[in-house]
Amino acid sequence: MSIERLQNYIGGQWVDAKADTYHTVLNPATEEVLGECPLSSAAAVDAAVTSAAEAFPAWRKASPVDRVQPLYKLKALLQSHADEMAAIVTRENGKTRAEAMGSVLRGIQMVEVAIGSPSLLMGGMLEDVSTGIDCASIRQPLGVFACIAPFNFPAMVPLWFFPFAVACGNTFVCKPSEQVPFSQKLMWELVDQCDFPPGVLNLVQGGRDVVNALTTHPQVEGVSFVGSSPVARHVYRTAAEHGKRVQALGGAKNFITIMPDADMEAALDAVMASAFGCAGERCLAASIVVPVGGCHEQVRNGLKKRIERMVVGDGSRKGVTLGPLISAAAKERVLGMIDQGIAEGADLVVDGRQTRMPARGFFLGATLFDNVTDEMTIGRDEIFGPVLSIMPADSIETALEYTRRQPLANASSIFTTSGAHGRFWRYGVEASMVGINIGVAAPMAFFGFGGSKESFFGDLKAHGREAYDFFTDRKVVISRW
Ligand code: NAD
Repeated sequence: MSIERLQNYIGGQWVDAKADTYHTVLNPATEEVLGECPLSSAAAVDAAVTSAAEAFPAWRKASPVDRVQPLYKLKALLQSHADEMAAIVTRENGKTRAEAMGSVLRGIQMVEVAIGSPSLLMGGMLEDVSTGIDCASIRQPLGVFACIAPFNFPAMVPLWFFPFAVACGNTFVCKPSEQVPFSQKLMWELVDQCDFPPGVLNLVQGGRDVVNALTTHPQVEGVSFVGSSPVARHVYRTAAEHGKRVQALGGAKNFITIMPDADMEAALDAVMASAFGCAGERCLAASIVVPVGGCHEQVRNGLKKRIERMVVGDGSRKGVTLGPLISAAAKERVLGMIDQGIAEGADLVVDGRQTRMPARGFFLGATLFDNVTDEMTIGRDEIFGPVLSIMPADSIETALEYTRRQPLANASSIFTTSGAHGRFWRYGVEASMVGINIGVAAPMAFFGFGGSKESFFGDLKAHGREAYDFFTDRKVVISRW
């Protein structure tokens, strides 16, 4: 059987990437070869950026009302292909079908919000800033933007950016993760049916060479990155050095605190979904649970009981609640973290290595550690796998102190029935996505998405109103007639 080689989409055409090397894409649940992703060269990036730059002058002159018409089509096509897209996400990433569908629906919401761009792009005006002088502010597009996506949300993450960028009048180049290129292949097949002028939306498949070419290309105005913190820092620095706008969303180490006054059953269910949903490969995954005061034992026993009910397997099968990790390398890395947790003295409550699992695929059962401290590797570093640590605290102040010591401050939640505890948490916590009785504090399309400290490099977060500040220049016109 011949193996599919993916192509790039440049200037409204599917084109051979002419790459020297290809990444073999596997189904992580079966290890079946799905295809080969080209690791495109700087020349392919240049072709895509040039095409986007050539399309820009006419596209920026199109009325915002006309610019959103193709997005209506895209929304309808994404809805009618949602099942197909979710199946691809499961096949290349390993998420369960329900998780994959959730991410596709979240992505469609981005298009819905971007369709409202004519209103969201409006400027303002004040008459008589001085006698007979008026001042207006308007938003204008800037040129070519690019996004660089991670493996863990193959369909959704590019949708955080490109619908907003093109609705604002910019043109765009998307680079998916080479580990999961098929979701964006389908996305661009749908884009191709939406009547965007050639060059407005381009797709370049590849790895770090594509990233480095995009972040240094003189005709790229801005870069949106989502991935691990070391690469986010590299992208932020390189793109900024080359005069670009950058928003770079990085890694995470998220805490969920449970107060003794919480609705315990609801809190534990939410912790389970947060920690083990998407096999823990989620930037909003709970990595540390902090039981405060007397509820430590109840939390440990409640989690252990729930973990024992989990079903590990291929996410396309009914009844499976925990899919595989993305690759053999990812599994090796997480196994290494488990070994380190044991070596550094944490108590292993549930050993996911012993869970019943399919013989093939990069599976690992849900793992629970207790009495973890933030001096231990598993208490400090991002694990990005189905491993949850309990870090008990004697008070809410200590719980807050734990989170404030963590640089990967993406999200943090508290479970409590006390408004005062909820307010204390919201007020003091440094992670910028906060959940109060919510396990996965994921802002919807009309709010901004992003963390703080070492989890986010830049100032304008993804989607929401901030997208309009990122993707436009704000011009002020002062006039006297
Ligand atoms: P990654 O950093 O390895 O890769 C992200 C992108 O960068 C990919 O497109 C990849 O091709 C490219 N890349 C990888 N190494 C590179 C290098 N050395 N130089 C240039 N480009 C490089 O991340 P990943 O493993 O694909 O995704 C998981 C990470 O993403 C986790 O750390 C997770 O927390 C993070 N993430 C964060 C958010 C958020 O909103 N903050 C959302 C999703 C994922």
